[in-house]
Amino acid sequence: MSPQDSRGRRRGAQHVFDVVRREQVSPHLVRLHLGGPAFAEFAAGIGEAQAAATDKYVKLLFARPGLGLEPPYDMDALRARLAPEDMPSRRTYTVRSIDAASGTIAVDFVVHGDEGIAGPWAAAAGPGDRVALSGPGGGYAPAHDVDAHVLLGDESALPAIAAALESLPADARGLVVIEVAGPEEEVALAKPAGVAVTWVHRGTAAYGALLTAVVENLEVPAGTFDVFAHGEREAMKRLRPLLTGAWGVPRDRLSLSAYWAFGRAEDTFQAEKREPVGQIFEPGPA
Ligand SMILES: Cc1cc2nc3c(=O)[nH]c(=O)nc-3n(C[C@H](O)[C@H](O)[C@H](O)COP(=O)(O)OP(=O)(O)OC[C@H]3O[C@@H](n4cnc5c(N)ncnc54)[C@H](O)[C@@H]3O)c2cc1C
Repeated sequence: MSPQDSRGRRRGAQHVFDVVRREQVSPHLVRLHLGGPAFAEFAAGIGEAQAAATDKYVKLLFARPGLGLEPPYDMDALRARLAPEDMPSRRTYTVRSIDAASGTIAVDFVVHGDEGIAGPWAAAAGPGDRVALSGPGGGYAPAHDVDAHVLLGDESALPAIAAALESLPADARGLVVIEVAGPEEEVALAKPAGVAVTWVHRGTAAYGALLTAVVENLEVPAGTFDVFAHGEREAMKRLRPLLTGAWGVPRDRLSLSAYWAFGRAEDTFQAEKREPVGQIFEPGPA
């Protein structure tokens, strides 16, 4: 059984991966291939539901430089002796792909500047670096019993959207809208011919503003469809009422959440998910 933290929540085991290869997917997207002895245990721990999910995600742990901490981190022991701000920070990333033959997983990191922990780490990471992670979790896979699939997001959701597209049968239909900084950030996507992809270039606009504007002007797809929509929080907050209202997407056909929030570190943003400002859906009955 997984260890529990001080609030009684089950925490997955930590797997300490080595960075074995680095790829520059686009100017602001870095792919790290993580492998080493940890892979076998990680792969063996993937449950049936997670294996089927195309939005598999892991929680990476980053220790504060200068504290001399080495992964895996004994979080309970550290909590007893460190100030809260010195505890390793968790950051959530999609598993873009798993390659059993080479014993590696690929994770695509948006390099978004000097702020934060994971983005700047990935910007400089390469073979020889190590990172502890737990997981995977995951909850979405394209439904088998719909006429079409709608996938919406920014570059943080691009790995999950790309994985979903790769999983679709050749005769699948659908539409994808992805907002990226500019044309240089577009990446090749393996997808069925019947899935149309629209790239939206943010330029100097606010994160998510153009993505939502494009979706607001789309015609509601004909027939039955499911929706995967993830990205910056304000954009997701704007899309939710449109998708559940005018588009009439039933809750069980809608995977929608904020992957990050502008101006918020992930720790703050995750904590805010328990407050009204961070909620996208109204809390359900207790
Ligand atoms: C389930 C899930 C899957 C995700 N998968 C991926 C993935 O595969 N690849 C990926 O890159 N991200 C992914 N994210 C988003 C990622 O967890 C956040 O972007 C996270 O905040 C990055 O941590 P950081 O340490 O770089 O920045 P933080 O310390 O969290 O934030 C520092 C500052 O950077 C800003 N910032 C954070 N992310 C971005 C961004 N993408 N663009 C511009 N500014 C940003 C914040 O608003 C803040 O001002 C995922 C999130 C979730 C919940």
